[in-house]
Amino acid sequence: MQDLSHTKLTDGAIAQLLDDLSDYAANFPYESDTASLLRVTRRIVDQASQVPSSFMAVFSHHRAQSYHNWAKARAENNFTLVQADLEKTLELSREWANFFPGYDHIADPLIDAADYGMKAATIQAIFSELRSQLVPVVQAITAQPPSDDACLKQVYPEAEQLAFSLDVIRQMGFDLRRSRQDKTLHPFMTNFSIDDVRITTRVKEQDLSECLFSTIHEMGHAFYELGNPPAFENTPLAGGISSGVHESQSRLWENMVGRSRVFWHHFYPKLQATFPSQLADVPLETFYRAINKVARSLIRTDADEVTYNLHVMIRFDLELALLTGELAVKDLPAAWNARYESDLGIVPDSDSNGVLQDVHWYGGRIGGAFQGYTLGNLMSAQFFDAALIEHPEIPTQIEQGEFSTLATWLKTNIYQHGRKFTAAEMVQRVTGKPLSTEPLMRYIHQKFGGLYSL
Ligand code: ZN
Repeated sequence: MQDLSHTKLTDGAIAQLLDDLSDYAANFPYESDTASLLRVTRRIVDQASQVPSSFMAVFSHHRAQSYHNWAKARAENNFTLVQADLEKTLELSREWANFFPGYDHIADPLIDAADYGMKAATIQAIFSELRSQLVPVVQAITAQPPSDDACLKQVYPEAEQLAFSLDVIRQMGFDLRRSRQDKTLHPFMTNFSIDDVRITTRVKEQDLSECLFSTIHEMGHAFYELGNPPAFENTPLAGGISSGVHESQSRLWENMVGRSRVFWHHFYPKLQATFPSQLADVPLETFYRAINKVARSLIRTDADEVTYNLHVMIRFDLELALLTGELAVKDLPAAWNARYESDLGIVPDSDSNGVLQDVHWYGGRIGGAFQGYTLGNLMSAQFFDAALIEHPEIPTQIEQGEFSTLATWLKTNIYQHGRKFTAAEMVQRVTGKPLSTEPLMRYIHQKFGGLYSL
């Protein structure tokens, strides 16, 4: 399917059409549907045309094999089972980058593919600023006695968890006429059309937060796609701008809304009624602290809002080191563990809980795989800030179980533009400023400063 679309995109017919239409396109303003459609299509065709179809075929074959071996390596906690595949992935990733000559950093073309317009140098600058601000917060919090999250770790039957989570997102505006939710091992969102966007979730009976927050997270991704205008159906303008902007929506709904105190003012009595034997005697404040527990941990996907970005930055730096040749694949597990020790103060007990935990490098390229998560967190705070400036009543509404003002604001400002703009253009348009660490750090200081009396 990917091979077929690559062949069609690059056979010259679409490029010719775009050439024929270039004078016509000049009559339309930059943000019009017409000019945007031609501009975005041109970009997609140009990017695809750089990479020969024969390379794509080799790469997709390799990726399938590497993914298969990774699953075994992770299950058996044996990095050597996938080391040769990863060496080949690195070679192919470099080769792929070199189809785009003229880059400043070899990672730039790989980053471009996920977060168009971003460069390694820009990201390194913003990440190092973020790291220097996060590390003292993590140190100050982890120097205190850990929060008690035992209330989440009781037995919560699967059926009730699924039903409660679905109730929550329906109230948040998830429309079951255009969406559905199913179970999976690794939660994701997928779309068949603008009117058929589906999400999956997973349930752990001994961890109440898993199903609940992965459901809200995927709902955020789904809202983005469902909010595209019907006119974009089957065009390159449908979907989300970049991995970062997409993640900004899942994280905004999951964290800024779903882990907020006002949100649980509304939903906690319902949660207690669903699980009376587990939660009837647990005060709201105890629950709120439990879902916002900050801890040094090994697994990115389970990390809290404060430490999460440190996990991402480790991966980003290691990708760059691999691509430039500073780090060899065989030394990756040791380099991974060293960074966990220096950045998070914790050493992985196994490669399965270390370098083998994420599928990205083993089922895709090395380069551009992770930065979107942190860019998304930064954008989520910056977008949410802008929404609150325009609608200071949003928290009070959330407290009343009312989400339409925020949902409508996001749809009007972000979702309805589909893929028209780059991430940088979108941030500037919506917030009036370039991407910055300031809104996220202010949010973290306000929220966790209160929780941990910093
Ligand atoms: Zn996501």
